[in-house]
Amino acid sequence: MDWCNWVPLKCNIFVWRAEMDRIATVEALAKRGVLISDDMCFHCRSGPDSVDHLLVGCELALGLWEKISFWCRVQNFFAFSVRDLLEMSNYCNKGATEKAALQGIVVIACWFLWVARNNHRFSGKRCCVDDIFSEVRSTSFLWFKQRSKFGEIVWLDWCKFVFM
Ligand SMILES: [Zn+2]
Repeated sequence: MDWCNWVPLKCNIFVWRAEMDRIATVEALAKRGVLISDDMCFHCRSGPDSVDHLLVGCELALGLWEKISFWCRVQNFFAFSVRDLLEMSNYCNKGATEKAALQGIVVIACWFLWVARNNHRFSGKRCCVDDIFSEVRSTSFLWFKQRSKFGEIVWLDWCKFVFM
């Protein structure tokens, strides 16, 4: 996996582990003999608590990816696995800066989907697509501004996904 250098290590490590199916979902725990009675996704109640469902197939994830594809103007944002998500930036028709930005945004979005899952499952805190999207867009802006070489970027350009 390509490490994204403007995104904090915890997020990179999370997606690296997610891609190998090594995060503590109910499905992954069951494979290791830890059985949890409520094995459904808390957001939609129609899929399993698994990496591919939580980050790719769940309606919450689909809604988030739709908003991100619209924001970053990436067409054909189709993914069937975490690997597909992580490779999205390689196959979009964009310049190097946009690709680097998009790569990090995907990593951060995965991280926030996981945070939302944990908040819901463990604290009963429900989250909607718009909340997660706002969080992804504002947090990624701060990190991109502070940690990439594009410290000059302003919020309005970030919201339009425009790089000067
Ligand atoms: Zn779901």
